[in-house]
Amino acid sequence: MTRWIYIALLGITVRADTPDYSYTSKKLQHTEDASITIGKPQKNGFWETPPQIYVCKFAPIREERLNAAMKYWNDLGYKFGDVFFRDESFGCVNDALGFGGITIDLVGQKFKEPNIGMTWNWKHTKTNQIVKSRIEIKRGWGDSPRVLEHELGHALGWLDYIKYGHIMHHHWSSGGFNAKGLKKED
Ligand SMILES: [Zn+2]
Repeated sequence: MTRWIYIALLGITVRADTPDYSYTSKKLQHTEDASITIGKPQKNGFWETPPQIYVCKFAPIREERLNAAMKYWNDLGYKFGDVFFRDESFGCVNDALGFGGITIDLVGQKFKEPNIGMTWNWKHTKTNQIVKSRIEIKRGWGDSPRVLEHELGHALGWLDYIKYGHIMHHHWSSGGFNAKGLKKED
């Protein structure tokens, strides 16, 4: 009983902080559009303030892995807010919550095989400002190098980039740690 009251209050609080999200759209950060194989990596969104990170209770991600992935993006000039590990609130509980942060969870019902990870971003339709992001990682892949780095890249607004050895390559086996074109100022 107490727990339900807590969740309900949380919902009210979050909504009070965030006046109107009716003008946001939810989008899967993945594209097979061939145009991104040429030129520089493309970005379709940005965070106005450093996003919090909510790692849900059942997310197959260890803290060391998350720290390494965050450092990868820190080194490229990106900042993150507070990190909540084994989280049971916000986006972990309800898909309608979690604004202002990146929620990392185990795969859910909308997950499509044969992906290893998937990321959805909620953005202002006019400004492309990202207001919320959800990363889902498949069980057994959380400890693999580059998986979380790649999905965090999507959460920061980057799209897949078909270049061998690049962190944003959609196919894990053809990817690598190459971060060309991904600096904050790029
Ligand atoms: Zn991808």
